[in-house]
Amino acid sequence: MTKYSENNVSTNLTDSKLSNNTSNTNTEKSALQLPNHVNLEKWEDAGYVWSGSITPRMLKRLVDIVPEEYQDKAINLKCELKKQGQLLMLMMAYTGDIWVTCQRCLMPLNIDVTHDAELILLQREEQQSLVDESDDYLLLEELLADQPENIKGDRLLPLKKLVEDELLLDVPLFAKHDDCEMAVKQVGEIIEEETENPFAALEALKGKL
Ligand SMILES: [Zn+2]
Repeated sequence: MTKYSENNVSTNLTDSKLSNNTSNTNTEKSALQLPNHVNLEKWEDAGYVWSGSITPRMLKRLVDIVPEEYQDKAINLKCELKKQGQLLMLMMAYTGDIWVTCQRCLMPLNIDVTHDAELILLQREEQQSLVDESDDYLLLEELLADQPENIKGDRLLPLKKLVEDELLLDVPLFAKHDDCEMAVKQVGEIIEEETENPFAALEALKGKL
């Protein structure tokens, strides 16, 4: 089993706290946007589904690596939180591309992020025995404790953070086109300097012997 890689960059606290909070002061369309959190007290047993589109601009870490002109390109997402037996699962299905800058030619490069991800949210460490070798899991205790929003024992699952973490895993640190050329800024003509070659001097000497 693989413990899901966690990215400990703090989540954005200015966004709405709950999905049903429509008095949102930020510029995102409140009712349609991916909620920052899902209240587990409310949805853990009932199950929770959200589908719609997200953009890099909504994701504070991802947006840093996406060129300005591609920050509003939508990625379709369907998230589903549901109990399967004793386990709480989060399914995330993505369709779309993320555009980044090629680290070799510095031109835009699209990364297909269309895939389904499944994350098991374990209540306790002891539940690890229920997880298969190939499954990704997170410990809810740890995850919830890491969220500064969770005061007084709140159980707000940071949905947007998890959605963004998953997308960030798709983007290589040094993304490059399969076939492109190194961007070289050529300023004027490259002058090949005639350097003094010690062997040339030797050659010259040899002729005289
Ligand atoms: Zn390139």
